[in-house]
Amino acid sequence: MSHPLFDISGSTALVTGSSRGIGLALARGLAQAGCRVVLNGRDGDRLAKTAAELAAEVSGEVHTAVFDVTDGPSVAAGIADVEQRVGPLDILVNNAGMQLRAPLLEFTDSDWHRILNTNLTSAFLVGREAARGMTERGHGKIVNICSLQSEVVRPGIAPYAATKGALKMLTKGMCADWGPHGVQVNGLGPGYIETELTQPLVQDEEFSAWVRRRTPAGRWGRTEDLVGGVLFLASPAADFVSGQVLYVDGGMTSVL
Ligand code: NDP
Repeated sequence: MSHPLFDISGSTALVTGSSRGIGLALARGLAQAGCRVVLNGRDGDRLAKTAAELAAEVSGEVHTAVFDVTDGPSVAAGIADVEQRVGPLDILVNNAGMQLRAPLLEFTDSDWHRILNTNLTSAFLVGREAARGMTERGHGKIVNICSLQSEVVRPGIAPYAATKGALKMLTKGMCADWGPHGVQVNGLGPGYIETELTQPLVQDEEFSAWVRRRTPAGRWGRTEDLVGGVLFLASPAADFVSGQVLYVDGGMTSVL
């Protein structure tokens, strides 16, 4: 029997950017734990198909919310619609994100704003709208998907690392503002995980071997590796945990 501290069944959970990759794996994990899950992305057809497949797989309630997490009015309307249609949000996972690799001297203004909006502004916009109800009701859990690059950086990804480093501080700031109202906010920092986003790196044999060498666990991460951490941070077991980032990286950020 599982411990009651980890019981999140019956909760309503929204995972942004859950049409594929890490977000979809996290949504699947929350659904398997008995949550009513809301998938989010920008492509309604793809999302509806994914939701139907997931609902059949987990025999649970899976809903969709199609909105662009970088667009303030769409986010506000999207969250209001979810809360009205599905129910008050208990859990929010701010996962939507993107990667753009280029040397800083070649990085364009428009790419800078695009990555900042997708990886950082989105968490502010969605977090703020979700927290309106959570703080009023006096409970809620928010998990911001950070990165090992919230801590360390390599050449060619400075803007990405800047967004993820700032997301770590936004997590702490949300914890400061909303903690007194019963909302715990934490980050989860994945290491190198095989998804569409990292396909170019996975296919680069030299880089891929470097990841395996640099990771004490000796392998790339799988999306399923991240599920346990999110379930913990979303559960009553984490009621006194807030403002932290849990790195799930096979040990990479801890060793030189
Ligand atoms: P993917 O590129 O595989 O998936 C990204 C998801 O975000 C998709 O579902 C996409 O949906 C959604 N998305 C992107 N932009 C928007 C937007 N403006 N509005 C709504 N949804 C959006 O990425 P991963 O699964 O690899 O990454 C997920 C998160 O994990 C990101 O925040 C990433 O930075 C972080 N991360 C990933 C690591 C890795 O190794 N993969 C390592 C560390 C952190 P759609 O295109 O359908 O709208």
